[in-house]
Amino acid sequence: MTENKSSSNFPTQAQVVIIGGGVIGCSVAYHLTKLGWRDVLLLERSNLTAGTTWHAAGLVVSGGFGTETTINMAKYTRELYQRLGEETGQDTGFKAIGYLEVASTAERVEGLRRQADFARGYGIDVEQISPAEVKKLWPLLYTDDLLAGFYNPLDGRANPVDTTIALAKGARMGGANILEDVRVTGILKDKGRVTGVLTEQGEIQAEYVVNCCGIWAREVGLMAGVNVPLQAAEHYYLITEPVEGAHPDLPVVEDPELYLYLREEVGGLMVGMFEPISQPWGMNGIPEDFSFGEIPPNWDRLMPYLEKAMHRIPIAKEAGVHTLFCGPESFTPDMSPMIGEAPELQNFYVAAGFNSLGILLGGGVGQVVAQWIADGHPPVDVSEINIDRMSPFRNNQQYLYDRTVEMLGWQYAEGWSNLHFESARGARRSPLHDRLAKAGAWFGESDGWEYADWYAPPGIEPVVEYSWKRQNWFDYNSAEHKAAREGVILMDLTPMSKFLIQGRDAEKVLNFICARDVNVDIGRCVYTTWLNERGTIEADLTVTRLAEDQYQVVSSWSIHIHVLTWLKRHIPSEAHVTVTDMTSAYALINIQGPKSRQLLSKITNADMSNQAFPHLTMQQIDIGYALVNALRITYLGELGWELYVPSEFSLHVYDYILQAGEEIGLKHAGLQALETLRMEKAYRDYGHDIDNLDTPGEVGLGFTVDSDKPVNFIGKEAFLEQKASGTPKRQLVQFLLEDPQPLMHGGEPIYNNGVRVGDIHTAAYGHTLGGAVGLGPITNASGVDKEYIQAGSFEIEVVGVRFPARASLRPMYDPKNEKIKA
Ligand SMILES: Cc1cc2nc3c(=O)[nH]c(=O)nc-3n(C[C@H](O)[C@H](O)[C@H](O)COP(=O)(O)OP(=O)(O)OC[C@H]3O[C@@H](n4cnc5c(N)ncnc54)[C@H](O)[C@@H]3O)c2cc1C
Repeated sequence: MTENKSSSNFPTQAQVVIIGGGVIGCSVAYHLTKLGWRDVLLLERSNLTAGTTWHAAGLVVSGGFGTETTINMAKYTRELYQRLGEETGQDTGFKAIGYLEVASTAERVEGLRRQADFARGYGIDVEQISPAEVKKLWPLLYTDDLLAGFYNPLDGRANPVDTTIALAKGARMGGANILEDVRVTGILKDKGRVTGVLTEQGEIQAEYVVNCCGIWAREVGLMAGVNVPLQAAEHYYLITEPVEGAHPDLPVVEDPELYLYLREEVGGLMVGMFEPISQPWGMNGIPEDFSFGEIPPNWDRLMPYLEKAMHRIPIAKEAGVHTLFCGPESFTPDMSPMIGEAPELQNFYVAAGFNSLGILLGGGVGQVVAQWIADGHPPVDVSEINIDRMSPFRNNQQYLYDRTVEMLGWQYAEGWSNLHFESARGARRSPLHDRLAKAGAWFGESDGWEYADWYAPPGIEPVVEYSWKRQNWFDYNSAEHKAAREGVILMDLTPMSKFLIQGRDAEKVLNFICARDVNVDIGRCVYTTWLNERGTIEADLTVTRLAEDQYQVVSSWSIHIHVLTWLKRHIPSEAHVTVTDMTSAYALINIQGPKSRQLLSKITNADMSNQAFPHLTMQQIDIGYALVNALRITYLGELGWELYVPSEFSLHVYDYILQAGEEIGLKHAGLQALETLRMEKAYRDYGHDIDNLDTPGEVGLGFTVDSDKPVNFIGKEAFLEQKASGTPKRQLVQFLLEDPQPLMHGGEPIYNNGVRVGDIHTAAYGHTLGGAVGLGPITNASGVDKEYIQAGSFEIEVVGVRFPARASLRPMYDPKNEKIKA
């Protein structure tokens, strides 16, 4: 089926070169040909499937995902594998034997129920069953200590090699060329754009290159100057000799609490493990000749986990061991895949880092990547999977190694939203870090940044006791929340991304990128969206004019690289503009609350009154010996200022503020307080409540677009079309549970008059409103507007119980912005 390098006419050109002939590369090739692309060339260093794909366990399951994008990718994959045999004449081996997750603790049952409630909204039919029903489905399982099972009869298993060969065959049938024994040794590029690849057989010019190199993707990325932060680690499964009662129709089982998955394998059992302390592999580079390779198993390391697994499947203890298999798989530092166009190099795409889910996501990934290449933009919400979420430092080898120790276990970790990795911590710290630790901070981590999440009162150790119910810090968070609403708080927001845009064309360039008019007075701050040509949102951020030819752009740090890349790619080469990343240059100390004016007035000579210092303006003020840029703005719905303090002055300014704040009751507040406060005010968070598919009208951000500003801007035409087409059919709505007890964590289904209309995206406890508050988009065929909301009877399902909820398009807290403008 495949040609090799001895073919007489080795290609010198292709429209797309895909590097890597595993399941992912073949899927990308297949899907490109489905879109009508014919000039597709796939290069495989060895033979198809020789990397990680050949030894995968072949689980094809669609449960367990927390976002619409991944659920849909898994679901599509399953459907594709089911029909691919018929289409190509090469069977994938897919069998819908069912998928069963079991739980033996109440917390796990609740976690799986929450997941199942969410997944059902996307057509994943998961049913909760009793331990007796589990036993019926899998008589060999020990079920006495189980509390529940979650069963999906449509999932199953496939043969990874046959599946990959079927995808390759389908790609060939569509016109793709697949060459084995061709190693890519370099990437060709010109002026920030990829132009081809270098191989041992010669150069190949290409318009697009796709890096699908599995555990080699980091190294191949570096050939192009592209960061693909992933690390290979050992992944094991044990195969027993045949046992009585094992047959191929037994469902796939996962028992996350015992770190195990299970299925039949040639009359025996396959017991796979995601052990909590894993072993990175290939630190000195992946061996060049590693094809159809195995790693010698380390019995001693695995024994304790195997013993644990035997608890669930006691018969495996008696069965002889056929094989203890160990193969490498790649893991990313946040356990999500890395997909999309590399921020460092145009037309260079990456699809790698599948964290042991490459087979079951493979079809969907291929479809998304192919469409992304064809359209030049992603067809789905990519907040969670876009490679541009990764800061370059994450490619640091020591960091990857240290983080990966935790990664396999993370696969089965409970889905608490405030669960953080414990490994590779402390990489990025605010200059205030040690002071905040002294003040009792419990630190979360995001993109390497340590941030104060909440503060324990004096004498109490800041430690989290995880639960789906109120966690031990609930009351501390409540006190921080109250202080922000009634007094004054200090919140360190140093990780926020800060960019300086300057040059004589700064205004012109920014006014083309920003949807709002940024031709404003010096000192004026504008909250704006950045739209793409389709009129959907690439970013939301603030733009403050510092001088005639200088602006400060501030965004959340989760979109740091995305914002920077978008800026750079939209500055015309002839424009006189530079962009400087100022994130490390300033600490950002946020002083918020009705007493913030009183506090700041004590420590500065500047006039902080409403008249002298209006909302959304910035002034340089003195604090102690420092000069600080103070921006009157809030992300939590109160009177307040963000203080941009040069890093070297930050401790001095912090100490000064703290001293002055003592007698007014200044309190530290963490990012959990930011969540509870902003949720009441319905402030959006990009990547959580808003994504790349949303239009401003759909997420209540129409006010961030000045469609009548005197200059053209990206997305204007599309925005005007959206406006002309009337009420959006989908709108982001704020919900408040009327019962003050239940908590929402995101993913809860929303019902209107008994019909499911959406689900909550983000949620927190509204300590002022007196109940759980969430933001979630809802859909209605004839439009979602004020009348629809007012006429509705909304309920939100929390673990099987539907609770009445208030719904609103306007923020429930301070809808007229009176607090902010006080
Ligand atoms: C033990 C084990 C069990 C697993 N079980 C499952 C499972 O049940 N379900 C599931 O969904 N996933 C499972 N996985 C994960 C799954 O196997 C991987 O996520 C998936 O195979 C990755 O596919 P890929 O195409 O990205 O990588 P690969 O299959 O490794 O393909 C990459 C290819 O790139 C080629 N290449 C590298 N460098 C170059 C170069 N310079 N030039 C040309 N070619 C190059 C390699 O030779 C290789 O063939 C398992 C993994 C392991 C280790």
